Amino acid sequence: MQMDQSRKLFQQAQTLIPGGVNSPVRACQSVGTDPLFIDRAKGCMVYDSDGNEFIDYVGSWGPMILGHAHSAVENAVNAALKNGASFGAPTAMEIKLAQLIQEAMPCVEMVRMVNSGTEAVMSAIRLARGVTKRDVMIKFDGCYHGHADSLLVAAGSGVATLAIAGSPGVPQAFVDLTLSLPFNDVETFTKTMVAKGDQVACVIVEPVPGNMGLVSPSQEYLDALRQETEKYGAVLIFDEVMSGFRVAHGGATARYGITPDLVTLGKVIGGGMPVGAYGGKKAIMEKIAPTGPVYQAGTLSGNPLAMAAGIATLSEIRKPGVYEDVSAKADRLKEGLNQAAAEAGVTARACAVGSMFGFFFTDQPVANFEDAKRSDLGLFNRYFSGMRESGIYLAPSQFEAGFVSTAHTNDHINATVAAAGKVLAEIARG
Ligand code: PMP
Repeated sequence: MQMDQSRKLFQQAQTLIPGGVNSPVRACQSVGTDPLFIDRAKGCMVYDSDGNEFIDYVGSWGPMILGHAHSAVENAVNAALKNGASFGAPTAMEIKLAQLIQEAMPCVEMVRMVNSGTEAVMSAIRLARGVTKRDVMIKFDGCYHGHADSLLVAAGSGVATLAIAGSPGVPQAFVDLTLSLPFNDVETFTKTMVAKGDQVACVIVEPVPGNMGLVSPSQEYLDALRQETEKYGAVLIFDEVMSGFRVAHGGATARYGITPDLVTLGKVIGGGMPVGAYGGKKAIMEKIAPTGPVYQAGTLSGNPLAMAAGIATLSEIRKPGVYEDVSAKADRLKEGLNQAAAEAGVTARACAVGSMFGFFFTDQPVANFEDAKRSDLGLFNRYFSGMRESGIYLAPSQFEAGFVSTAHTNDHINATVAAAGKVLAEIARG
């Protein structure tokens, strides 16, 4: 594969941008290669600056559920731009996007738009602390909730990929207020609540974690989170920045039938534009300024271009059959990958939840971060490189999920499984 142009751009970028990238995992450091510089994308394909083309399963790390440059999104953003890029004043589009979110997630009685998932989570936690007048937060190992200070403790995604234990710059006082527990472990969680429940402001969880690779939650575990938080008066926050509009139209709240107090969103609701949102119970959301004392604001929040892209995306994906279609394709991919691994004699297991999928190089079930870390990273790196050489674009880390869009066809899935078969056979040959 030709990479001359990407390498040249990467060298130039490194002189101006730390590590040459504006988000760490993109650097491909952990898989021992350089990033591809992308020129353009259409449907489920991405094209790099050397003219290589790939079937894309990164989907901008989740947002592109309709594939790239979808005509409905393109038209909506173009139309919005003609009317002005930003006003810093309310628009009707903000109400429309809020309605589309509420329709899918009735537990979101009120919602506030922000500009990223990090901002959504950061604001939701401040709100939870403000309403409970408590400081302690419980999170779970391997879940990633953005890069706000207290959330980098035992985090997934790039923090896991780069094996960063804790980030310099995060005050110890913040770390002390964050308890990180094993995911899917009802007993440890329940015991912790018995000991500390009355100090806990909030419990935040990726209900379907995609930042330690893809992991399925047990129903019992999610039920326990709801019961215990209710018992101790702590706010339950479902961080659905990734799983929202992915694992089902109504996200994990709908898939597992749980009503959290707050939900954080991002990715899909912005259709590729920088958007986040947090919402939930009216009684809690009304505590945000200007109706309440908890402060949170944003110059570009509810930005018209972003709202237009979000409205177009959510309007498309609410059409009948969309989730059945993307989920069936993710399942087909999972089955194909499992079969390819079995035929090649490589120990690996694929999983899928809705339109998200994962592939771990281990023979053990993966229920939490400890299990995920047992995956053979050497094998993953060879798999990643082999797939990229074969025209399949995957996230450059074992600790990330893959995403299927409505633009992927069965032919794309079959081609991906065939490529995986060849790559895995090569890996098996040593
Ligand atoms: N929460 C979750 C569950 C995420 O997956 C992410 C990003 N991958 C974030 C929060 C942070 O979102 P952003 O990168 O938009 O700040």
